[in-house]
Amino acid sequence: MSQHVVVIGAVALGPKAACRFKRLEPGSRVTMLDMSDVISYGGCGIPYYVSGEVSDETQLMTTSFHMVRDVPFFKDVKGVDVMTRTKAVKIDRDAKKVYWENLDTGETGELDYDQLVVATGATPRSLNLPGEDLEGVHYVSNPHDATDIKDAIAKGKVGSAVVIGAGFIGLEMAEAFTDMWGVDTTVVEIFDQIMPRLVSPDLARMAQNHMEEQGVVFHLGETVKAIEGEGRVQRVITDKRTIEAECVIVSVGVIPNDQLARESGLECHERGGIMVDETMRTNDPAIFSGGDCVVVRNLLTNQPMFLPLGSMANRQGRIIGDNLAGGSSKFDGVLGSFVVKTFETSLAGTGMSLDTAKASGFDAASVLLVQLDRAHFYPTKDLMTLELVYERGTARCSAFRASAARETPWWAVLTQ
Ligand SMILES: Cc1cc2nc3c(=O)[nH]c(=O)nc-3n(C[C@H](O)[C@H](O)[C@H](O)COP(=O)(O)OP(=O)(O)OC[C@H]3O[C@@H](n4cnc5c(N)ncnc54)[C@H](O)[C@@H]3O)c2cc1C
Repeated sequence: MSQHVVVIGAVALGPKAACRFKRLEPGSRVTMLDMSDVISYGGCGIPYYVSGEVSDETQLMTTSFHMVRDVPFFKDVKGVDVMTRTKAVKIDRDAKKVYWENLDTGETGELDYDQLVVATGATPRSLNLPGEDLEGVHYVSNPHDATDIKDAIAKGKVGSAVVIGAGFIGLEMAEAFTDMWGVDTTVVEIFDQIMPRLVSPDLARMAQNHMEEQGVVFHLGETVKAIEGEGRVQRVITDKRTIEAECVIVSVGVIPNDQLARESGLECHERGGIMVDETMRTNDPAIFSGGDCVVVRNLLTNQPMFLPLGSMANRQGRIIGDNLAGGSSKFDGVLGSFVVKTFETSLAGTGMSLDTAKASGFDAASVLLVQLDRAHFYPTKDLMTLELVYERGTARCSAFRASAARETPWWAVLTQ
């Protein structure tokens, strides 16, 4: 039976769910809406666009066949209607309606749905500090942010940069500034190691050493107190020093956009994130959700976990597409796998770090070993450091590793 599926949010999860469903049910109608004017982009490529390795913003939005995934593409190639600059302002679950507002014209309207997908993603966390609104202070979340940063660098406005937060995005942005543009880059992190909670201090230190050799300066265990400047940012004040900065990147995590769902009575986690079951359904059987706005099951702890990754959004989107069409696909949960490139090395992991495992109540221990990353006869072999975190008694384990080689094969790391 033909049905109308409405999808709120059109970046990673939304388009995947919409297109998968439309392929399975070509006779049904799909309408996707997004507040933004840019849709279906690869957020993961943003640091590489800033660095210049990806030369053109539209490359973040193209298919592998070089077609730009814009509104006409979705209409003509995928059969999906898209309304951009359109905000979903209310979900009426009893009437099965989504109310919307066009952010440019102020026009309002409503869409009836048979099934709904909430793919509202996440918003960068703000520090709520004085000076955070100065020109030159950025949150890297979409291609517009990236273009602003790149334009400022290209115009010679940025000789020094401060990155606040030493997680994935902070480290990738630090590399982009230093490697390609020669910008003096300082990373400030409140914890006393980079990639806190994700890798052990030993592996973190190895990656940090390598980045320092490339010119990145780190101030760990330091808290940013203010950002200062006259109109445009000029310096960052921490609890220990003042750092000159013509550009500041605030990369201190993201917060799930669950407000719309929460207001409509969908069940959300107390620390944020829409709750879904293994079919990616919310507590309303007609409403699915996934990607950066949900919490999913951690396979090790069995507890809800927030894992805002594009890889997860794509996988969950496909499952939602199947289930919108009456399928019974399941998303079992996550182990928290990641890979981040830092200049010539990479840092990757799956499962829990030792600290996180202990904090989760496991009787955990770890071993470190250094191994070749390829067979000994292979010309580009290099050493990699592995850390195996295991539970005493059961020998259940998760592996973390830092590698010295750029082209290290990642097949050795579990992906979940
Ligand atoms: C710099 C950077 C690097 C990254 N690198 C990686 C990486 O290497 N690997 C990886 O796996 N992931 C990476 N990610 C994360 C990845 O981009 C996200 O996990 C992914 O985009 C999440 O997709 P989503 O569709 O759930 O949400 P989002 O991408 O957040 O999209 C949600 C959309 O919903 C819209 N929206 C929200 N509320 C409403 C509303 N009420 N009405 C209408 N529209 C609404 C928003 O405007 C937004 O366009 C990176 C992200 C960034 C920013």
